[in-house]
Amino acid sequence: MDAQERQARLAALEAEIRQCTRCPLHRSRANAVPGEGSLDAPIIFIGEAPGANEDRLGRPFVGPAGELLETLLERIGLTREDVYITNVVKCRPPGNRDPLPEEIEACKSFLARQVRLVAPDVIVTLGRFAMERWLPNRRITRVHGRGFRFGRCLVVPMFHPAAALRRPEWLPLLEADFDRLPAFVDAVRLGRRQAPGPPSLHVETVEEEKPPPAQLNLFDQGE
Ligand code: SF4
Repeated sequence: MDAQERQARLAALEAEIRQCTRCPLHRSRANAVPGEGSLDAPIIFIGEAPGANEDRLGRPFVGPAGELLETLLERIGLTREDVYITNVVKCRPPGNRDPLPEEIEACKSFLARQVRLVAPDVIVTLGRFAMERWLPNRRITRVHGRGFRFGRCLVVPMFHPAAALRRPEWLPLLEADFDRLPAFVDAVRLGRRQAPGPPSLHVETVEEEKPPPAQLNLFDQGE
């Protein structure tokens, strides 16, 4: 598929999400929030669900958590236009409650199609709900900042920026996890040509849908 066709498919997918009525969240939303960013992004960031600002504007991460995300991206020389940003569910749960399992299930294929089209080197899950898509039964306080290999791509779980705003003691952890992202991207790119990656990162190989992890390799940052 060439770049033009991928771009057209992503635009069609985003339009489909804006019209979606698959789950009850469509009734209370002002706008669905498909996601935005570069089709050539090396990193896709996946949060939980739109909040009030996102619902109003139809864009992801535009409130205080979005400002922090942009600041964190600046640390590694990126802007939000360089990456792709989306959420597990695309419509705001009323009162900012947690998304329900059936809402996550209804929205699941949209996220899968976005990940396939963007085909990033690294998937960063922000918070518990996004992490559970790839790493169920893990504790984010133990695995944040570590890389989990799924096929050619690494999944790196991190705290949600909103959580770091609520608990300032988590902010330095989030900053340190962001600082490792360029090395994770390099590790994936090096891995296409040669293995192993740089000797400073934890990467665990996971066979999706088949727990437990098949193999531990490379290096551990410690838990
Ligand atoms: S949350 Fe997802 S599945 Fe539910 S209405 Fe919105 S786009 Fe559709």
